[in-house]
Amino acid sequence: MIEMYEKPGKIVSKVRGMAVNKVKENLKVCDLVEFVEEEIKKLGGEPAFPCNISINEVTAHYTSPLNDESLLNLGDLVKIDLGAQVDGYIADSAVTVLVGGDKVGSDDLLPEVEVEFQFKLIETAQKALENVISVIKDGVELEKIGNIVEDTVNAENLNPVSNLTGHSMDRWILHSGLSIPNVKGENKHKIREGDVLAIEPFVTNGVGRVTDMKEVYIFRFLRDRPLRMVQARKLLDIIKQNYHNLPFAERWVQKSFKGHQFNLAMNQLISSRALYPYHALKEKSDARVAQAEHTVIVEPDGCHIITE
Ligand code: MN
Ligand code: MN
Repeated sequence: MIEMYEKPGKIVSKVRGMAVNKVKENLKVCDLVEFVEEEIKKLGGEPAFPCNISINEVTAHYTSPLNDESLLNLGDLVKIDLGAQVDGYIADSAVTVLVGGDKVGSDDLLPEVEVEFQFKLIETAQKALENVISVIKDGVELEKIGNIVEDTVNAENLNPVSNLTGHSMDRWILHSGLSIPNVKGENKHKIREGDVLAIEPFVTNGVGRVTDMKEVYIFRFLRDRPLRMVQARKLLDIIKQNYHNLPFAERWVQKSFKGHQFNLAMNQLISSRALYPYHALKEKSDARVAQAEHTVIVEPDGCHIITE
């Protein structure tokens, strides 16, 4: 089974590195998002979900809408979360980058103390991820993972985000049932050999909870519904054919939909609950958040990191 995950894992790891190198002041967010998605395709995969670029207190589920004019600014804390699927087998990984972080010491950057703090957020998220990965093996209880994340993060006087979790994955399914906690709490469920898990701690100096924003640019097919509008039925067919049950960007279908009345059709799919809307999420106290994520496969005596 590991063989099926090798290709998407390598694609994600390669594109993640290229995306990190691309981050710089005044880069358009939509250019970064499209670069990631195009590179995944060039390497023989498909995006398993839209590339998420979540900046500062925006924590997850932000992708560019069509004609997104937003830019990366010096000092922004940028979370790049990307996924590739090959034949439905998914690899999911994320990294956090400080815009201008490679220019520390030069005059045009933020005060040094500020920069140090951003790096502390980034490094703590990475450390929490590494600490979890070092204990993962068949039979480990989920509560052990939550304990490790919370202890690692608290040791730096920071907080994990409690209402975001990692997740198990299956073929064509991004969240297949198990939630991998980032905080303490009784959970005796044991992970098993062969489980495919996305481990993703989020670290902040805020209260450590995320809340919905009004923006929604990512959706997922939920169920068939009776639809009066022909264009809505046509749109839903395209979505099912192209993305199965995986999340997709509104801009993807907007670009490829040949019919008219796209907005009307889309609104009908949302209001009839044929689609699930992923609201962009932000930290409740507007504090900055860093994230680190890898996909691993559980083994008898450890785990295999497919996105390393
Ligand atoms: Mn992810
Ligand atoms: Mn994930």
